[in-house]
Amino acid sequence: MTEPTQTLSVVVPVYFEEAVLETFYERVCAALAPLEPEFRLELVFVNDGSTDRSLEILLALRERDPRVKVLHFSRNFGHQIAVTAGLDHASGDAVVVIDADLQDPPEVIVQMLAKWREGYKVVYGVRAARRGESPFKRGTAKLFYRLLGRLSDVPLPLDAGDFRLLDRAVVEALRRMPEESRYLRGMVSWVGYRQCGIPYVRDARYAGKTKYTLGKMLRFAFNGITSFSEKPLVLAGWMGVFATLIGFLYLIQVITGKLLRPETVVSGWASMIGVVIFFGGIQLLFLGVLGQYVGRIYRETKRRPLYILEESWGTEHDTRADHSRADQ
Ligand code: UDP
Ligand code: MG
Repeated sequence: MTEPTQTLSVVVPVYFEEAVLETFYERVCAALAPLEPEFRLELVFVNDGSTDRSLEILLALRERDPRVKVLHFSRNFGHQIAVTAGLDHASGDAVVVIDADLQDPPEVIVQMLAKWREGYKVVYGVRAARRGESPFKRGTAKLFYRLLGRLSDVPLPLDAGDFRLLDRAVVEALRRMPEESRYLRGMVSWVGYRQCGIPYVRDARYAGKTKYTLGKMLRFAFNGITSFSEKPLVLAGWMGVFATLIGFLYLIQVITGKLLRPETVVSGWASMIGVVIFFGGIQLLFLGVLGQYVGRIYRETKRRPLYILEESWGTEHDTRADHSRADQ
């Protein structure tokens, strides 16, 4: 039998997934077994600060199977950062990012690889249907993708999540993008290259609960918008122009009123209060929008490492403490 010449890495962010990890591992191995003669397989699990049995299970898997590599964060850094760490430590010629909860069927990876062989550098999964998610989640997700699509300065595929295959060239490009507020799918679009989508049915979670709370979802959405669009700032500017124009017209009316019929000027109290409240509100709103961008600048200028690895097993530099930006 010939030795495989290429490596396929599978990057898996893990946050309180003790209930699914074993099944996930079995299913991925079964799905990818047919590729084995051609590809050396590598599974990079990133334990994003979960304190349940996830790490224990991962280390047990590693005992049995040296293809399993484990990164362990010092605390919860969030899904996007966990994926980033996985990409940093994956060695594959092709790297697949997949959730641990089996919502993304591992069997689709085989189809993704076929596209990769055709020369596509990014193959992303497009959720043709989503099973087992609340109408609220589906509705907000749909709305968000469409809103972001409108706002974004780079074209973003609709209904595509982080389940995707990336060529080594794309992974290297991503590694050179050090921004802290990461919206990976947008960054992948920005990188360019030939990209294509594969429709798939997103299953219900195998076990456990979603870790994307409403708060995390909102933060993720803000991040996506402020990372890939300056349109909210432009909108603020236009609202300013509009408000000034209205204000100016109103001023003319007030002055002519005062000149022509000085006795009636006092009667405008209600409209006065209305205008003050309305424009006060708009000003605060756009101060907030501005604040989002200023906050981003503030976070970026600190140049902190994106994550802290407490320990890692099986990766190239089997470190006890890693600073992802140290090599830059
Ligand atoms: N996840 C993570 N860190 C977090 C939240 C989630 O690594 O802070 C992982 C989680 O274990 C899963 C994936 O990211 O593998 C997607 O999370 P989840 O299934 O909770 O999100 P949903 O599919 O509901 O959007
Ligand atoms: Mg999920």
